[in-house]
Amino acid sequence: CGALAACSHQLSGSVPRGFHHCALGRGKRLVLSRMFQPQNLREDQVPSLEGRSGDLTCKSQRLMLQVGLIHPASPGCYHLLPYAVRAMEKLVRVIDQEMQAIGGQKVNMPSLSPAELWRATNRWDLMGKELLRLRDRHGKEYCLGPTHEEAITALVASQKTLSYKQLPFLLYQVTRKFRDEPRPRFGLLRGREFYMKDMYTFDSSPEAAQQTYSLVCDAYGSLFARLGLPCVKVQAAVGSIGGTMSHEFQLPVDVGEDRFAVCPSCSFSANVETLDFSQTNCPSCRGPLTETRGIEVGHTFYLGTKYSSVFNAQFTNVHGKPSLAEMGCYGLGVTRILAAAIEVLSTEDGLRWPNLLAPYQVCLIPPKKGSKEAAAAELMGQLYDNITEAVLPLRGEVLLDDRTHLTIGNRLKDANKFGYPFVIIAGKRALEDPAHFEVWCQNTGEVVFLTKEGVMELL
Ligand code: ATP
Ligand code: MG
Ligand code: MG
Ligand code: MG
Repeated sequence: CGALAACSHQLSGSVPRGFHHCALGRGKRLVLSRMFQPQNLREDQVPSLEGRSGDLTCKSQRLMLQVGLIHPASPGCYHLLPYAVRAMEKLVRVIDQEMQAIGGQKVNMPSLSPAELWRATNRWDLMGKELLRLRDRHGKEYCLGPTHEEAITALVASQKTLSYKQLPFLLYQVTRKFRDEPRPRFGLLRGREFYMKDMYTFDSSPEAAQQTYSLVCDAYGSLFARLGLPCVKVQAAVGSIGGTMSHEFQLPVDVGEDRFAVCPSCSFSANVETLDFSQTNCPSCRGPLTETRGIEVGHTFYLGTKYSSVFNAQFTNVHGKPSLAEMGCYGLGVTRILAAAIEVLSTEDGLRWPNLLAPYQVCLIPPKKGSKEAAAAELMGQLYDNITEAVLPLRGEVLLDDRTHLTIGNRLKDANKFGYPFVIIAGKRALEDPAHFEVWCQNTGEVVFLTKEGVMELL
C-alpha cells in the first residue's frame, strides 16, 4: 500500500517532510527519532541535581538522568519525561487494579490544604519544617499536602447520614505530595514533590478495621509480587501520622535509607527504629536477627479514631446511635517504587524494568542506511505493522529505531541502555529466505533468530 511505501522511504532515509509518524490506516508508527528525551549520556554532562556537587548518589538516579527519563527542575523536583510518564501510568494502572479489587474507590483531593484542618489535629505545629506553607492574597494560610488524613476525614465527616450498612469505605487517590525534605536525594527516591498513592479506610468497628487492614496489606503483597519486587513487610513506627499499629513494605537494597531486622527462625521483622535499643536477638524467639538496608516503598497505619474523633466522622451504628469511624491509612510511594524497581533490577549500564512497567515492550532496529542489509528495511516496517495489528496488547508498545544513519551496533547499545524487554534486529539473516530476525530478550539475556511467524508467536 502507499503508506507502506512511504514508510520504507522513511526507513531508507528519504523522509517526506512532516511524515515522521507514518500514517498507516488506523495506527501510526512510533519512531525513536521523534522522542522528546533530553539525554545526558555522559556522566559529566548530567546537570546539577540536588543543588550540591557530587550529586549522583545512586544507580537509578544516574541511569534515569542519562537516558532522559527525568530532568532536574529544582532541588528534589524533577521533570518526568515521556518514558517515565508511560512507566508511571502503567504502575498507576496496576495499583488501581489492586486497590479496586478490594473495593477501593478513587478520589482526588486538592493539594492546597487549609491550615485550619492541620491546626485541628495540631499537625500544623507538629509537622514543623517539612510542611511547605503559603498564604493566599487574603492572608489565609495553607500548606501543600504532604499527606491527606485531615482532608479525607473532614470530607467523610461532612456526610451526616452515613450508616454502618455502607461501610467500609476505602477511598484512595494518586496525587502529588509535597514535603520540604531536609536532604532530597537519590533522584525520585527522595523528592520534595513526588507521587503517592494514599488510601484511607473507614470501618464500623475495630474488628472490621483490622480485617480491612489485612486486606490492604495483602493487596500490597500482591502488587509487589506482580512487579517482581521482593518486598518485606516489617513492623514500623507510627511517626507523625499516629495510630496504634503500623507496617512498612521494605525493598532490600544497599542504597536504602532504612534498616530493618528479620529473624530467619520465626516471622519477626521490624524497622530497627521500633527496637528501643540495638537488639541482636529476636524479641519473639531469641534467635539471632539479621539486619538489612531497605527502601520504604509502602506504609500502612491502623489509626483507630485518632482523626475521626477530631473531625467527628460518624456513622449510625446497628443500634441507631452515632459512632466514630475506625480508620486506617495506607501509603505507596509511586515515583519511589518506579526508581526503586530500576535500582534493584538494572545493570550498571542499562535500565531493566518489571515487565508490567517497561515504557515500550518492543524496539525494532532496521538496517543501517546504505548497508548490505538495507533491503531488509521494508521487512522491518511490515513486521512493525504485523505486530501492532495482530497482538492487541502491543498496540502503542512498539518503537521503531529509525535512526538509520547509525549502525545496528550503536542502536543496539542504546536499546540495551533503555531496557526494552524485546529488541528485534534486521541484520544479515533478514536477507535469507525466509527472513530471520535477531531477537534479544533483555530480561532473560537470550538471543534467538526467528522468522516473522516465530516473532509473532514469541510476542
Ligand atoms: P521516609 O521514611 O522515607 O521519609 P515516610 O515514612 O516519611 O518516608 P510516609 O509518610 O510513610 O513516608 O509516606 C508514604 C510513602 O510515601 C512512603 O512509604 C514512601 O514510599 C513515599 N515517600 C515518602 N516520602 C517520600 C519522598 N520524599 N519522596 C518519594 N517518596 C516518598
Ligand atoms: Mg519522611
Ligand atoms: Mg519512614
Ligand atoms: Mg513511612
